[in-house]
Amino acid sequence: MKILADYHVHTSFSGDCSIPPETMIEKAAAQGIRHLCLTDHIDYDYTEGGTFFEFDPKEYFKRLLTLKEQYREQIDLAVGVELGLQPYLSKKHHNLIFSHSFDFVIGSIHLVHCKDPYFPSYFEGRSEDEAYLEYFECILQNLAAYSNFDVFGHLDYVVRYGPNQNRYYSYEKFREIIDEILRLLIKKEIGLEVNTGGYKYGLGMPNPYKAIILRYRELGGRIVTFGSDAHEPQYLGYKFDRVGKLLKECGFTSYFIFHNRKPEEVGL
Ligand SMILES: [Zn+2]
Ligand SMILES: [Zn+2]
Repeated sequence: MKILADYHVHTSFSGDCSIPPETMIEKAAAQGIRHLCLTDHIDYDYTEGGTFFEFDPKEYFKRLLTLKEQYREQIDLAVGVELGLQPYLSKKHHNLIFSHSFDFVIGSIHLVHCKDPYFPSYFEGRSEDEAYLEYFECILQNLAAYSNFDVFGHLDYVVRYGPNQNRYYSYEKFREIIDEILRLLIKKEIGLEVNTGGYKYGLGMPNPYKAIILRYRELGGRIVTFGSDAHEPQYLGYKFDRVGKLLKECGFTSYFIFHNRKPEEVGL
């Protein structure tokens, strides 16, 4: 069955994307996506590489709600955000989320102690495993500080940028900490995003990869969303057929979309 929902898409409201929301919406509708959630970046205090990852929420809502109405016949548009978590930002995130009526909130980690694994310096002076472990530890620190979001984004994002990427990486190596993360997500009723950006980075797998998705299911996790993490229209719905199949193999019979922060089940 074709997956009709892409719940992780960027537009020119993100510091690393130049595609206007209109273009993303039109292209998504043209390829048969029925439920689209735009999730532009808010990464407060992002200091790496000179990119500014914040937008004005007022302007964002004004523009997207107008487009939601304008494209009503073609597509169901949801207004989301991808929050870049850092433990000390919890108050700021709380204020943002409570003063605006987002449909969907992704909690993601791009900065580990102010360093983004996207840049090679994150990996300098230590083993790849140590660098990966620090990323997972940082997830736990963030979940302890703030967890008012609907799904956790690209759980093993760090692997995209490792010197050997996923060549020596496995769930088994980090079983203890990954299980702890998954149990916490389930307890807090936070869903797991299956982010197909990993294919774009040549991993041949989504983030997180199959063993982790399977483990989430085994531990009782039910809420999964599909996200392409597209920053360009050609990546909308990228590899969703493949990942739909993978989710079925892991025992899932449905995935979720969100409106007003409420999960709605869609059959797989
Ligand atoms: Zn992200
Ligand atoms: Zn993203």
